Amino acid sequence: MAARTGAQYIAGLRDDRSIWVNGSRVTDVTDYPGFAGSLQGLAGYFDWQHTHAIECLSDGENISHQIPRCLEDLSRRHVGLERLARYSAGMLGRTPDYVNVTFAGFAGQPSIWKQEGNEGGYENLVAFQREAAEGDLALTHTIIHPIVDKRTRDYEGENRSLALNKVDETAESIVVSGARILATLGPFADELTVYPGHPIPKDQPELALAFSVPMNTPGLKVICRDHYGVDRDEFDLPFSSRFDEQDAFIVFDDVEIPKHRVFCDGLPGVYNSVMGRGWTGNIMQQTSIRAQVKLEFAYELATRMAVATGQNERPDIAQMLGELWSYAELTRSAVYTAESQAFDYGDGVWFCDERPFVALRPTMPGWMVRANEILKLIGSHNLLATPAAADFDDEELKPILDKYLKAADGMNAKDRSRLFRTAWDFVGSALGGRTELYERFYLASSARMYGVAHAVAQRDREWEAVPTFWSQADR
Ligand SMILES: Cc1cc2nc3c(=O)[nH]c(=O)nc-3n(C[C@H](O)[C@H](O)[C@H](O)COP(=O)(O)OP(=O)(O)OC[C@H]3O[C@@H](n4cnc5c(N)ncnc54)[C@H](O)[C@@H]3O)c2cc1C
Repeated sequence: MAARTGAQYIAGLRDDRSIWVNGSRVTDVTDYPGFAGSLQGLAGYFDWQHTHAIECLSDGENISHQIPRCLEDLSRRHVGLERLARYSAGMLGRTPDYVNVTFAGFAGQPSIWKQEGNEGGYENLVAFQREAAEGDLALTHTIIHPIVDKRTRDYEGENRSLALNKVDETAESIVVSGARILATLGPFADELTVYPGHPIPKDQPELALAFSVPMNTPGLKVICRDHYGVDRDEFDLPFSSRFDEQDAFIVFDDVEIPKHRVFCDGLPGVYNSVMGRGWTGNIMQQTSIRAQVKLEFAYELATRMAVATGQNERPDIAQMLGELWSYAELTRSAVYTAESQAFDYGDGVWFCDERPFVALRPTMPGWMVRANEILKLIGSHNLLATPAAADFDDEELKPILDKYLKAADGMNAKDRSRLFRTAWDFVGSALGGRTELYERFYLASSARMYGVAHAVAQRDREWEAVPTFWSQADR
Protein backbone atom coordinates (compact mmCIF):
# COMPACT_ATOMS: atom_id res chain seq x y z
CA MET A 1 0.00 0.00 0.00
CA ALA A 2 2.87 2.40 0.92
CA ALA A 3 2.07 5.96 1.99
CA ARG A 4 -1.53 6.24 3.16
CA THR A 5 -3.98 9.10 2.94
CA GLY A 6 -5.62 10.58 6.04
CA ALA A 7 -8.86 8.75 5.30
CA GLN A 8 -7.02 5.42 5.04
CA TYR A 9 -5.24 6.12 8.31
CA ILE A 10 -8.51 6.81 10.15
CA ALA A 11 -10.19 3.74 8.67
CA GLY A 12 -7.32 1.64 10.06
CA LEU A 13 -8.05 2.76 13.63
CA ARG A 14 -11.55 1.24 13.73
CA ASP A 15 -11.09 -1.75 16.00
CA ASP A 16 -11.82 -2.91 19.55
CA ARG A 17 -8.71 -1.50 21.23
CA SER A 18 -9.02 -0.89 24.98
CA ILE A 19 -8.80 2.89 25.38
CA TRP A 20 -9.79 4.51 28.66
CA VAL A 21 -10.58 8.21 29.08
CA ASN A 22 -11.97 9.75 32.24
CA GLY A 23 -13.48 6.56 33.60
CA SER A 24 -15.01 5.30 30.38
CA ARG A 25 -13.89 2.86 27.77
CA VAL A 26 -13.91 4.39 24.30
CA THR A 27 -15.48 1.80 22.02
CA ASP A 28 -14.32 3.36 18.74
CA VAL A 29 -11.66 6.08 18.75
CA THR A 30 -12.77 7.28 15.31
CA ASP A 31 -16.25 7.91 16.67
CA TYR A 32 -15.36 9.47 20.03
CA PRO A 33 -16.32 13.17 19.85
CA GLY A 34 -13.47 14.32 22.10
CA PHE A 35 -10.84 12.90 19.74
CA ALA A 36 -12.37 14.20 16.49
CA GLY A 37 -10.20 17.30 16.02
CA SER A 38 -6.96 15.56 16.96
CA LEU A 39 -7.67 12.65 14.62
CA GLN A 40 -8.35 15.07 11.80
CA GLY A 41 -5.06 16.77 12.66
CA LEU A 42 -3.20 13.47 12.38
CA ALA A 43 -5.07 12.53 9.22
CA GLY A 44 -3.84 15.83 7.86
CA TYR A 45 -0.27 14.65 8.41
CA PHE A 46 -0.88 11.62 6.19
CA ASP A 47 -2.38 13.84 3.47
CA TRP A 48 0.47 16.33 3.85
CA GLN A 49 3.03 13.68 2.87
CA HIS A 50 1.20 13.35 -0.47
CA THR A 51 0.89 17.11 -0.94
CA HIS A 52 4.66 17.34 -0.48
CA ALA A 53 5.45 13.96 -2.00
CA ILE A 54 8.70 15.02 -3.67
CA GLU A 55 10.17 15.85 -0.26
CA CYS A 56 8.30 13.48 2.07
CA LEU A 57 8.14 10.24 0.09
CA SER A 58 10.84 7.95 -1.23
CA ASP A 59 9.80 5.12 -3.56
CA GLY A 60 6.22 5.76 -2.46
CA GLU A 61 7.02 5.36 1.26
CA ASN A 62 7.38 7.98 3.98
CA ILE A 63 11.04 9.07 3.89
CA SER A 64 11.41 8.25 7.60
CA HIS A 65 11.47 4.51 6.75
CA GLN A 66 14.59 4.89 4.65
CA ILE A 67 17.69 3.19 6.08
CA PRO A 68 20.45 5.77 5.48
CA ARG A 69 23.35 4.26 3.55
CA CYS A 70 25.34 7.39 2.73
CA LEU A 71 25.54 11.13 3.40
CA GLU A 72 23.17 11.88 0.51
CA ASP A 73 20.53 9.66 2.13
CA LEU A 74 20.78 11.69 5.33
CA SER A 75 20.52 14.97 3.41
CA ARG A 76 17.51 13.68 1.52
CA ARG A 77 15.93 12.52 4.78
CA HIS A 78 16.58 15.93 6.33
CA VAL A 79 14.53 17.65 3.62
CA GLY A 80 11.62 15.25 4.12
CA LEU A 81 11.68 15.37 7.92
CA GLU A 82 11.77 19.17 7.89
CA ARG A 83 8.76 19.32 5.60
CA LEU A 84 6.89 16.86 7.84
CA ALA A 85 7.70 18.95 10.93
CA ARG A 86 6.37 22.09 9.26
CA TYR A 87 2.90 20.54 9.12
CA SER A 88 2.36 21.35 12.82
CA ALA A 89 5.09 23.99 13.23
CA GLY A 90 6.90 21.33 15.27
CA MET A 91 4.14 21.12 17.89
CA LEU A 92 3.41 17.47 17.11
CA GLY A 93 6.40 15.73 18.64
CA ARG A 94 5.26 12.25 17.77
CA THR A 95 4.20 12.24 14.21
CA PRO A 96 4.89 8.68 13.04
CA ASP A 97 8.23 9.63 11.50
CA TYR A 98 9.74 9.69 15.03
CA VAL A 99 9.40 5.95 15.71
CA ASN A 100 9.86 5.13 12.01
CA VAL A 101 13.33 6.67 12.07
CA THR A 102 14.19 4.62 15.16
CA PHE A 103 13.15 1.33 13.53
CA ALA A 104 14.90 2.16 10.26
CA GLY A 105 18.04 2.65 12.38
CA PHE A 106 17.50 -0.65 14.22
CA ALA A 107 16.93 -2.55 10.97
CA GLY A 108 20.21 -1.14 9.65
CA GLN A 109 22.23 -2.57 12.56
CA PRO A 110 22.31 -6.38 12.40
CA SER A 111 25.61 -6.57 14.25
CA ILE A 112 23.93 -5.20 17.38
CA TRP A 113 20.61 -7.02 17.19
CA LYS A 114 22.09 -10.39 16.16
CA GLN A 115 24.34 -10.60 19.22
CA GLU A 116 23.99 -13.56 21.60
CA GLY A 117 22.36 -15.71 18.92
CA ASN A 118 19.45 -13.30 18.32
CA GLU A 119 19.40 -13.86 14.55
CA GLY A 120 15.70 -14.73 14.68
CA GLY A 121 14.86 -11.59 16.65
CA TYR A 122 16.67 -9.46 14.10
CA GLU A 123 14.87 -11.15 11.20
CA ASN A 124 11.55 -10.41 12.92
CA LEU A 125 12.60 -6.79 13.38
CA VAL A 126 13.53 -6.37 9.71
CA ALA A 127 10.24 -7.95 8.62
CA PHE A 128 8.34 -5.65 10.98
CA GLN A 129 10.17 -2.56 9.76
CA ARG A 130 9.20 -3.46 6.18
CA GLU A 131 5.60 -4.06 7.26
CA ALA A 132 5.47 -0.66 8.97
CA ALA A 133 6.91 1.02 5.87
CA GLU A 134 4.72 -0.74 3.34
CA GLY A 135 1.57 -0.33 5.45
CA ASP A 136 2.52 3.21 6.50
CA LEU A 137 1.65 2.27 10.07
CA ALA A 138 1.46 4.84 12.86
CA LEU A 139 3.70 3.53 15.63
CA THR A 140 3.86 4.56 19.26
CA HIS A 141 6.46 3.36 21.74
CA THR A 142 6.92 2.79 25.45
CA ILE A 143 10.50 2.48 26.57
CA ILE A 144 10.36 3.75 30.15
CA HIS A 145 9.80 1.65 33.27
CA PRO A 146 7.48 3.33 35.82
CA ILE A 147 9.01 3.94 39.24
CA VAL A 148 6.73 4.45 42.23
CA ASP A 149 9.45 4.93 44.80
CA LYS A 150 12.65 6.68 43.76
CA ARG A 151 14.32 5.76 47.08
CA THR A 152 14.74 2.18 45.89
CA ARG A 153 16.47 0.89 42.79
CA ASP A 154 14.52 0.76 39.55
CA TYR A 155 14.15 -3.02 39.57
CA GLU A 156 13.82 -3.78 43.27
CA GLY A 157 10.88 -4.04 45.69
CA GLU A 158 7.69 -2.23 44.74
CA ASN A 159 9.32 -0.81 41.61
CA ARG A 160 10.20 -4.29 40.35
CA SER A 161 6.61 -5.46 40.77
CA LEU A 162 5.46 -2.94 38.11
CA ALA A 163 8.03 -3.82 35.47
CA LEU A 164 7.02 -5.13 32.09
CA ASN A 165 8.30 -8.71 32.04
CA LYS A 166 7.80 -12.07 30.41
CA VAL A 167 5.52 -14.28 32.49
CA ASP A 168 4.84 -17.22 30.20
CA GLU A 169 5.46 -18.73 26.81
CA THR A 170 3.41 -20.84 24.42
CA ALA A 171 4.40 -22.46 21.14
CA GLU A 172 3.33 -19.37 19.19
CA SER A 173 3.80 -16.49 21.60
CA ILE A 174 5.39 -15.04 24.68
CA VAL A 175 3.13 -13.63 27.40
CA VAL A 176 4.05 -10.32 29.07
CA SER A 177 2.66 -8.36 32.02
CA GLY A 178 3.50 -5.05 33.67
CA ALA A 179 3.39 -1.37 32.80
CA ARG A 180 5.29 1.22 30.78
CA ILE A 181 5.22 5.01 30.52
CA LEU A 182 4.19 6.90 28.46
CA ALA A 183 2.77 6.15 24.98
CA THR A 184 2.31 9.44 23.20
CA LEU A 185 -0.08 8.87 20.29
CA GLY A 186 -1.24 5.69 22.11
CA PRO A 187 -4.95 5.67 21.17
CA PHE A 188 -4.19 7.01 17.67
CA ALA A 189 -1.52 4.49 16.72
CA ASP A 190 -1.75 1.25 14.80
CA GLU A 191 0.97 -0.53 16.76
CA LEU A 192 2.66 -0.26 20.13
CA THR A 193 6.39 -0.88 19.99
CA VAL A 194 8.49 -1.74 23.01
CA TYR A 195 12.26 -1.45 22.91
CA PRO A 196 15.04 -0.64 25.37
CA GLY A 197 15.14 2.63 27.26
CA HIS A 198 17.38 2.53 30.31
CA PRO A 199 19.64 -0.49 30.95
CA ILE A 200 18.29 -3.43 32.95
CA PRO A 201 20.09 -5.71 35.45
CA LYS A 202 21.88 -8.59 33.71
CA ASP A 203 20.45 -11.14 36.15
CA GLN A 204 16.82 -10.36 35.21
CA PRO A 205 16.54 -11.62 31.62
CA GLU A 206 12.74 -11.68 31.80
CA LEU A 207 12.90 -7.85 31.51
CA ALA A 208 14.90 -7.95 28.28
CA LEU A 209 12.04 -7.47 25.84
CA ALA A 210 11.55 -5.76 22.50
CA PHE A 211 8.48 -6.35 20.33
CA SER A 212 5.55 -4.77 18.56
CA VAL A 213 1.83 -5.53 18.82
CA PRO A 214 -1.30 -4.04 17.25
CA MET A 215 -3.10 -1.62 19.56
CA ASN A 216 -6.15 -3.90 19.74
CA THR A 217 -4.19 -6.85 21.14
CA PRO A 218 -6.18 -8.41 24.02
CA GLY A 219 -4.90 -7.44 27.47
CA LEU A 220 -3.39 -4.13 26.36
CA LYS A 221 -4.90 -1.24 28.34
CA VAL A 222 -4.35 2.33 27.19
CA ILE A 223 -5.12 4.74 30.02
CA CYS A 224 -5.26 8.27 28.64
CA ARG A 225 -4.59 11.54 30.40
CA ASP A 226 -7.35 14.14 29.97
CA HIS A 227 -7.66 15.02 26.33
CA TYR A 228 -6.70 18.64 25.68
CA GLY A 229 -8.02 18.74 22.15
CA VAL A 230 -10.84 21.27 21.93
CA ASP A 231 -13.71 21.45 19.46
CA ARG A 232 -13.06 25.03 18.34
CA ASP A 233 -12.39 27.02 15.24
CA GLU A 234 -8.75 26.82 14.09
CA PHE A 235 -8.68 30.62 14.31
CA ASP A 236 -9.36 30.40 18.04
CA LEU A 237 -7.08 27.51 18.98
CA PRO A 238 -4.90 26.50 16.04
CA PHE A 239 -3.04 23.79 17.98
CA SER A 240 -5.61 22.55 20.51
CA SER A 241 -8.23 22.19 17.77
CA ARG A 242 -6.03 19.67 15.87
CA PHE A 243 -2.79 18.70 17.50
CA ASP A 244 -3.29 16.95 20.83
CA GLU A 245 -1.22 13.83 20.26
CA GLN A 246 -2.59 12.26 23.48
CA ASP A 247 -0.27 10.60 25.97
CA ALA A 248 -1.31 7.38 27.69
CA PHE A 249 -0.11 5.04 30.42
CA ILE A 250 0.16 1.47 29.15
CA VAL A 251 -0.70 -1.66 31.12
CA PHE A 252 0.04 -5.10 29.73
CA ASP A 253 -2.28 -7.63 31.36
CA ASP A 254 -1.05 -11.06 30.20
CA VAL A 255 -0.61 -9.84 26.64
CA GLU A 256 0.32 -12.51 24.09
CA ILE A 257 3.00 -11.36 21.70
CA PRO A 258 3.24 -13.56 18.59
CA LYS A 259 6.79 -14.86 18.29
CA HIS A 260 7.27 -13.42 14.82
CA ARG A 261 6.83 -9.95 16.41
CA VAL A 262 9.44 -10.47 19.15
CA PHE A 263 12.79 -8.76 18.51
CA CYS A 264 14.48 -9.51 21.82
CA ASP A 265 13.48 -12.09 24.41
CA GLY A 266 15.58 -12.69 27.48
CA LEU A 267 18.89 -11.28 26.23
CA PRO A 268 20.05 -8.46 28.53
CA GLY A 269 23.29 -8.12 26.53
CA VAL A 270 21.32 -7.26 23.39
CA TYR A 271 18.83 -5.14 25.31
CA ASN A 272 21.49 -3.08 27.01
CA SER A 273 23.51 -2.40 23.88
CA VAL A 274 20.77 -1.46 21.42
CA MET A 275 20.65 2.19 22.45
CA GLY A 276 24.39 2.49 22.87
CA ARG A 277 25.47 2.69 19.25
CA GLY A 278 23.68 4.73 16.63
CA TRP A 279 20.33 5.54 18.22
CA THR A 280 21.32 9.06 19.26
CA GLY A 281 22.98 9.90 15.94
CA ASN A 282 19.91 8.58 14.14
CA ILE A 283 16.81 9.72 16.04
CA MET A 284 18.24 13.07 17.09
CA GLN A 285 18.35 14.12 13.44
CA GLN A 286 14.56 13.78 13.28
CA THR A 287 13.77 15.37 16.60
CA SER A 288 16.32 18.20 16.35
CA ILE A 289 14.97 19.19 12.94
CA ARG A 290 11.52 19.31 14.52
CA ALA A 291 12.88 21.42 17.37
CA GLN A 292 14.51 23.82 14.91
CA VAL A 293 11.23 24.23 13.02
CA LYS A 294 9.44 24.91 16.30
CA LEU A 295 11.99 27.40 17.59
CA GLU A 296 11.94 29.28 14.28
CA PHE A 297 8.17 29.42 14.51
CA ALA A 298 8.39 30.71 18.09
CA TYR A 299 10.87 33.40 16.99
CA GLU A 300 8.59 34.55 14.21
CA LEU A 301 5.54 34.54 16.50
CA ALA A 302 7.41 36.60 19.09
CA THR A 303 8.67 39.03 16.45
CA ARG A 304 5.20 39.49 14.99
CA MET A 305 3.83 40.15 18.50
CA ALA A 306 6.55 42.72 19.11
CA VAL A 307 5.67 44.48 15.86
CA ALA A 308 1.95 44.31 16.66
CA THR A 309 2.56 46.09 19.96
CA GLY A 310 5.07 48.57 18.59
CA GLN A 311 7.90 47.15 20.69
CA ASN A 312 10.01 45.63 17.98
CA GLU A 313 12.88 48.05 18.37
CA ARG A 314 12.89 48.38 22.14
CA PRO A 315 16.33 47.17 23.26
CA ASP A 316 15.06 44.74 25.90
CA ILE A 317 12.59 43.20 23.45
CA ALA A 318 15.20 43.01 20.68
CA GLN A 319 17.47 41.24 23.15
CA MET A 320 14.85 38.57 23.83
CA LEU A 321 14.10 38.16 20.14
CA GLY A 322 17.77 37.76 19.39
CA GLU A 323 18.05 35.22 22.18
CA LEU A 324 15.19 33.20 20.74
CA TRP A 325 16.61 33.32 17.21
CA SER A 326 19.96 32.19 18.60
CA TYR A 327 18.39 29.00 19.99
CA ALA A 328 16.89 28.22 16.59
CA GLU A 329 20.14 28.97 14.81
CA LEU A 330 22.25 26.95 17.26
CA THR A 331 19.90 24.02 16.70
CA ARG A 332 20.22 24.39 12.93
CA SER A 333 24.00 24.57 13.28
CA ALA A 334 24.14 21.48 15.51
CA VAL A 335 22.10 19.47 13.00
CA TYR A 336 24.27 20.73 10.15
CA THR A 337 27.46 19.80 11.99
CA ALA A 338 26.12 16.39 13.00
CA GLU A 339 25.06 15.65 9.43
CA SER A 340 28.25 16.85 7.81
CA GLN A 341 30.29 14.66 10.20
CA ALA A 342 28.08 11.61 9.60
CA PHE A 343 29.80 8.25 9.11
CA ASP A 344 29.24 4.54 8.67
CA TYR A 345 28.42 3.18 12.11
CA GLY A 346 29.10 -0.39 10.91
CA ASP A 347 26.79 -2.61 8.85
CA GLY A 348 26.88 0.04 6.11
CA VAL A 349 24.38 2.27 7.93
CA TRP A 350 25.04 6.00 8.11
CA PHE A 351 24.02 8.13 11.06
CA CYS A 352 24.92 11.65 12.12
CA ASP A 353 27.82 12.35 14.45
CA GLU A 354 26.19 12.08 17.87
CA ARG A 355 28.34 14.64 19.69
CA PRO A 356 26.39 17.79 18.73
CA PHE A 357 23.22 15.92 19.70
CA VAL A 358 24.62 14.73 23.02
CA ALA A 359 25.13 18.42 23.82
CA LEU A 360 21.77 19.50 22.41
CA ARG A 361 19.71 16.84 24.16
CA PRO A 362 19.92 18.16 27.74
CA THR A 363 20.18 21.80 26.63
CA MET A 364 17.13 21.92 24.37
CA PRO A 365 14.52 21.57 27.17
CA GLY A 366 15.85 24.76 28.75
CA TRP A 367 15.66 26.59 25.43
CA MET A 368 12.10 25.42 24.83
CA VAL A 369 10.99 26.56 28.27
CA ARG A 370 12.78 29.90 27.82
CA ALA A 371 11.16 30.34 24.39
CA ASN A 372 7.77 30.00 26.04
CA GLU A 373 8.78 32.49 28.72
CA ILE A 374 9.87 35.01 26.08
CA LEU A 375 6.55 34.61 24.28
CA LYS A 376 4.74 35.33 27.54
CA LEU A 377 6.95 38.30 28.41
CA ILE A 378 6.45 39.91 25.01
CA GLY A 379 2.79 38.97 24.77
CA SER A 380 1.82 40.04 28.28
CA HIS A 381 -1.93 40.76 28.73
CA ASN A 382 -2.34 40.82 24.95
CA LEU A 383 -2.28 37.04 25.04
CA LEU A 384 -5.66 37.16 26.75
CA ALA A 385 -7.26 40.27 25.19
CA THR A 386 -8.17 38.14 22.21
CA PRO A 387 -11.76 37.97 20.95
CA ALA A 388 -12.78 34.70 19.30
CA ALA A 389 -13.68 34.23 15.64
CA ALA A 390 -17.36 34.22 16.60
CA ASP A 391 -17.00 37.64 18.27
CA PHE A 392 -15.93 39.11 14.94
CA ASP A 393 -19.04 37.66 13.33
CA ASP A 394 -21.30 39.59 15.71
CA GLU A 395 -22.55 42.79 14.12
CA GLU A 396 -22.82 44.69 17.39
CA LEU A 397 -19.40 43.64 18.65
CA LYS A 398 -17.31 43.84 15.49
CA PRO A 399 -17.04 47.65 15.18
CA ILE A 400 -16.09 47.89 18.86
CA LEU A 401 -13.41 45.24 18.46
CA ASP A 402 -12.14 46.88 15.29
CA LYS A 403 -11.75 50.15 17.16
CA TYR A 404 -10.34 49.05 20.52
CA LEU A 405 -8.44 45.89 19.73
CA LYS A 406 -6.45 46.77 16.67
CA ALA A 407 -2.67 46.59 16.73
CA ALA A 408 0.24 48.88 15.89
CA ASP A 409 1.47 49.29 12.32
CA GLY A 410 -1.98 49.04 10.77
CA MET A 411 -2.73 45.45 11.79
CA ASN A 412 -6.48 45.01 12.12
CA ALA A 413 -8.19 43.62 15.21
CA LYS A 414 -8.97 40.22 13.76
CA ASP A 415 -5.41 39.56 12.58
CA ARG A 416 -4.12 40.79 15.93
CA SER A 417 -6.41 38.46 17.79
CA ARG A 418 -5.38 35.49 15.67
CA LEU A 419 -1.71 36.23 16.31
CA PHE A 420 -2.00 36.41 20.08
CA ARG A 421 -4.36 33.44 20.21
CA THR A 422 -1.81 31.38 18.31
CA ALA A 423 0.86 32.40 20.81
CA TRP A 424 -1.37 31.60 23.78
CA ASP A 425 -2.25 28.19 22.41
CA PHE A 426 1.49 27.63 21.90
CA VAL A 427 2.45 28.43 25.50
CA GLY A 428 -0.55 28.78 27.78
CA SER A 429 -3.49 26.54 26.89
CA ALA A 430 -3.81 23.11 28.49
CA LEU A 431 -2.14 21.67 25.40
CA GLY A 432 0.55 24.37 25.51
CA GLY A 433 1.33 23.38 29.12
CA ARG A 434 1.48 19.70 28.22
CA THR A 435 3.77 20.41 25.31
CA GLU A 436 6.19 22.28 27.54
CA LEU A 437 6.30 19.23 29.82
CA TYR A 438 6.88 17.08 26.76
CA GLU A 439 9.85 19.20 25.72
CA ARG A 440 11.29 18.93 29.21
CA PHE A 441 11.10 15.15 29.47
CA TYR A 442 10.46 13.28 26.25
CA LEU A 443 14.16 12.51 25.80
CA ALA A 444 14.68 11.89 29.54
CA SER A 445 15.43 14.67 32.01
CA SER A 446 18.15 17.26 31.40
CA ALA A 447 19.79 16.26 34.67
CA ARG A 448 20.34 12.69 33.50
CA MET A 449 21.37 13.78 30.03
CA TYR A 450 23.97 16.28 31.19
CA GLY A 451 25.44 13.35 33.14
CA VAL A 452 25.53 11.36 29.90
CA ALA A 453 27.16 14.30 28.10
CA HIS A 454 29.94 14.32 30.67
CA ALA A 455 30.42 10.56 30.30
CA VAL A 456 30.61 10.87 26.50
CA ALA A 457 33.13 13.69 26.82
CA GLN A 458 35.31 11.48 29.00
CA ARG A 459 34.92 8.48 26.68
CA ASP A 460 35.75 10.26 23.44
CA ARG A 461 38.82 12.31 24.22
CA GLU A 462 41.95 12.61 26.33
CA TRP A 463 41.70 15.86 28.33
CA GLU A 464 45.28 17.08 28.63
CA ALA A 465 45.02 20.82 27.95
CA VAL A 466 45.52 21.77 31.60
CA PRO A 467 48.83 19.94 32.26
CA THR A 468 50.01 20.89 28.75
CA PHE A 469 49.37 24.54 29.59
CA TRP A 470 51.22 24.15 32.90
CA SER A 471 54.19 22.51 31.23
CA GLN A 472 54.33 25.34 28.70
CA ALA A 473 54.43 27.80 31.60
CA ASP A 474 57.09 25.72 33.39
CA ARG A 475 59.33 25.88 30.30
C1 LIG B 1 4.46 14.59 27.67
C2 LIG B 1 5.34 13.38 27.76
C3 LIG B 1 5.28 12.44 26.75
C4 LIG B 1 6.08 11.29 26.83
N1 LIG B 1 6.00 10.34 25.84
C5 LIG B 1 6.69 9.18 25.94
C6 LIG B 1 6.57 8.15 24.96
O1 LIG B 1 5.87 8.28 23.97
N2 LIG B 1 7.25 7.01 25.15
C7 LIG B 1 8.05 6.80 26.23
O2 LIG B 1 8.62 5.73 26.35
N3 LIG B 1 8.18 7.76 27.18
C8 LIG B 1 7.53 8.93 27.05
N4 LIG B 1 7.64 9.89 28.02
C9 LIG B 1 8.33 9.51 29.26
C10 LIG B 1 9.66 10.10 29.34
O3 LIG B 1 10.51 9.28 28.61
C11 LIG B 1 10.01 10.18 30.81
O4 LIG B 1 9.13 11.09 31.38
C12 LIG B 1 11.41 10.68 30.96
O5 LIG B 1 12.29 9.64 30.63
C13 LIG B 1 11.64 11.20 32.33
O6 LIG B 1 11.54 10.16 33.26
P1 LIG B 1 11.56 10.42 34.83
O7 LIG B 1 10.33 11.12 35.25
O8 LIG B 1 11.88 9.10 35.43
O9 LIG B 1 12.69 11.47 34.93
P2 LIG B 1 13.99 11.59 35.80
O10 LIG B 1 15.15 11.55 34.90
O11 LIG B 1 14.01 10.68 36.97
O12 LIG B 1 13.77 13.06 36.28
C14 LIG B 1 12.75 13.42 37.23
C15 LIG B 1 13.24 14.63 37.99
O13 LIG B 1 14.40 14.26 38.75
C16 LIG B 1 15.48 15.11 38.39
N5 LIG B 1 16.69 14.29 38.33
C17 LIG B 1 16.84 13.07 37.76
N6 LIG B 1 18.10 12.64 37.84
C18 LIG B 1 18.78 13.59 38.50
C19 LIG B 1 20.12 13.74 38.89
N7 LIG B 1 21.03 12.80 38.62
N8 LIG B 1 20.46 14.86 39.54
C20 LIG B 1 19.55 15.82 39.80
N9 LIG B 1 18.25 15.73 39.46
C21 LIG B 1 17.87 14.65 38.80
C22 LIG B 1 15.14 15.68 37.03
O14 LIG B 1 15.74 16.94 36.81
C23 LIG B 1 13.65 15.80 37.09
O15 LIG B 1 13.25 17.01 37.67
C24 LIG B 1 6.91 11.07 27.96
C25 LIG B 1 6.96 12.04 28.96
C26 LIG B 1 6.19 13.18 28.87
C27 LIG B 1 6.28 14.18 29.98
